[in-house]
Amino acid sequence: MKVLVINSGSSSIKYQLLDPATADVCAQGVVQRIGEAVEPDVVTVEHTTGEKTFEYRGAIADHAQGLHVAFDLFIASGQDLADADLGAVGHRVVHGGEVFYEPTLITDDVVQAITDLSALAPLHNPPNVIGIESARALLPTVPQVAVFDTAFFHNLPAAAKTYAIDAETAAAHGVRKYGFHGTSHDYVSGQAAAFLGKDRAELNQIVLHLGNGASASAIRAGRAVDTSMGLTPLEGLVMGTRSGDLDPGIIFHLIRTAGMNVDDVDALLNRYSGIKGLSGVNDFRELGRLIETGHPTAKLAFDVYIHRLRRYIGAYLIELGQVDAITFTAGVGENDARVRAEALAGLERYGIRVDPDRNTAKARTARRISADDSEIAVLVVPTNEELAIARAAADLVG
Ligand code: ADP
Repeated sequence: MKVLVINSGSSSIKYQLLDPATADVCAQGVVQRIGEAVEPDVVTVEHTTGEKTFEYRGAIADHAQGLHVAFDLFIASGQDLADADLGAVGHRVVHGGEVFYEPTLITDDVVQAITDLSALAPLHNPPNVIGIESARALLPTVPQVAVFDTAFFHNLPAAAKTYAIDAETAAAHGVRKYGFHGTSHDYVSGQAAAFLGKDRAELNQIVLHLGNGASASAIRAGRAVDTSMGLTPLEGLVMGTRSGDLDPGIIFHLIRTAGMNVDDVDALLNRYSGIKGLSGVNDFRELGRLIETGHPTAKLAFDVYIHRLRRYIGAYLIELGQVDAITFTAGVGENDARVRAEALAGLERYGIRVDPDRNTAKARTARRISADDSEIAVLVVPTNEELAIARAAADLVG
């Protein structure tokens, strides 16, 4: 059985057709610049099967057209989805609120409930719903499953998920820590346990998902007990374009004194802050180059990023009391040896000793970067949210 995984964002759709049992990827692609006016020769859909890439050029009016073009490219590449033994479509859905905490078979009611949660995730849930609706229209007989980014953190302990604000207001408006990237934290902590030859129930873990968005989690015996993202994916670590934690008073200050309204501050903190806000670039490869050229604020951006990351690592070491593994994952976590080295530098007395050669060795698979005498294992584990979603969808539809 194959599963088509769809991650539908505001202006893009990423998809992958894969076999959940073997993890073989049959095809993958991305639809970009949805809703934008582009020159007719601009590549907007790129579809890859094996070594071959198939392209579509020209404007993509909406998500429905984008998926339609993608499905045509499946046919053009000799892989008609109608004959692909497609058992399910798995959709990444960002916010499940209090309602959804397990992979869920999509019905009209489920779509409505995900839509109703849009107030909590205005940037994410609406495009997720559009992707679901488009896929249901194009593949009406294939079961569709929603897998929620918040699910892994549904049962955070009350002390970790509760914000210290007026309780009635919080309850009336769904204000709690929900956490995100849950599919990745769940998958990576499982892979880390497998790598160590242990059951997840035997381990306390810290997982650092450092991509464009970034989050940390504390996991006790397989169960998430804390995470850095909150009501929205804005809280916590410094990210590519997001500020992460800040004094909430900054928001009032900017509204009162800088002539900004709520939407301006929202855009500032989500899109023009983080590494980008401090250095002008949000990609860590570019940041590294800027640091080497002596750019005036690039090193500061890096230092602020590391400072915040270490603060969370310290918090989770204390929260868990005893930690067996710290695992880096996602674009930065998997590739940037300097980030890993600096995040854990000087923590020998806490049982953490990164081996410099292991840390800088290039590899694409799960690996240990701590020294043999490091009490806490430090690992790098590639995340694979598509595979995790495909497996969840396949399990649900049997
Ligand atoms: P997303 O959150 O978009 O899924 P990813 O997990 O793919 O992000 O991470 C993307 C980020 O990873 C890039 O913006 C870049 O900063 C970083 N990255 C990717 N490759 C490297 C690399 N070789 N070295 C350092 N950073 C990298």
